[in-house]
Amino acid sequence: MSRLLFWIALACLVVAAVRSKLRQAAKRHQQMEQPEQREQIRPQPNRARAEAAANAETMLCCAHCGVYFPASENVPAGGRDYCSAAHAQLSPQ
Ligand SMILES: [Zn+2]
Repeated sequence: MSRLLFWIALACLVVAAVRSKLRQAAKRHQQMEQPEQREQIRPQPNRARAEAAANAETMLCCAHCGVYFPASENVPAGGRDYCSAAHAQLSPQ
């Protein structure tokens, strides 16, 4: 009797494994069918990257708190870069 239960349990596991594999394959198939839709949603990646690079600003690291901030907001003091006048007055850590 226990042998029969073992074979039934094994059959159930095999069926579950095959089903999950089929589901994965179906998902992959769907993803392969839809790349055109994704391209329509996203703008051209090269153009977006070029725009981002053009808009990018150099980032500096504050000598006191370590925060990165735009170079246009830099408060230089003693040859170091600070994110604010308050941190420029405090000693670097
Ligand atoms: Zn700071």
